[in-house]
Amino acid sequence: MNQHRKMVIAGNWKMNKTPNEAKQLVKKLIPLVSAATCEVVICVPYVDLHAALEESRGTGLKIGAQNCHYETSGAFTGEISAKMLAEMQVDYVIIGHSERRAYFGETDVTVNKRALACLKFGLNTIICVGETLSQRQAGITEEVLRMQTKLALADLTAGETDKLVIAYEPIWAIGTGLAATAEIANNACFMIRSAIKEIFDDQTANRISILYGGSMNKNNAAELLSQPDIDGGLIGGASLEPHDFAKIVEIAVG
Ligand code: PEP
Repeated sequence: MNQHRKMVIAGNWKMNKTPNEAKQLVKKLIPLVSAATCEVVICVPYVDLHAALEESRGTGLKIGAQNCHYETSGAFTGEISAKMLAEMQVDYVIIGHSERRAYFGETDVTVNKRALACLKFGLNTIICVGETLSQRQAGITEEVLRMQTKLALADLTAGETDKLVIAYEPIWAIGTGLAATAEIANNACFMIRSAIKEIFDDQTANRISILYGGSMNKNNAAELLSQPDIDGGLIGGASLEPHDFAKIVEIAVG
């Protein structure tokens, strides 16, 4: 963590919780994170957005979506646009999660298009990048992260990065209980920051928050979040349990 960057603790609920369940979970979470001095976000299923936004109104808790389409409107059955999310006053959106890439055919090109659309509509945009286990074992992690980062940020200007957040999410660590070591995670975040420097400049790269995601929990958060290039966490499993998530928030703000 660096003082010049914002610390973000974001939960990714994935495909969990109905609207009623979401309302209850948000109600439990709010008093637990109300004193937090960092950005606290929960990214919920589309159908839970309304309930989560209503329940969190007037509190510091930010609500996010887990994806959005790159077109503003049109014949894209089943999709949701950035304009729709912005009108609902959704604060954040996750783009390019590895589950979207692996199961729903998303590519670096569509990730870039989605990110550009989200930023155009003023959404805080968390772009996920990360290598597979075989890519790490083949020694090409840096190339993979650099390529994913550069393609995701194509056609973006430095001035448009104010609401951009990157999440380093090694695929081998997501949902496996096997978090990256703090050293591996910090080195990867440093590689991503170096790629951002190559695309834009030092100042821009030093301003963008880079989160770590992959089996972060209340036991490993302190070590991960104390690393100089890690500016927060994207948390799946542990974000579904309000006390665990709140504990990570507490650790993040020190
Ligand atoms: C995620 O879904 O982005 C994630 C990091 O999941 P988990 O914390 O469960 O590994």
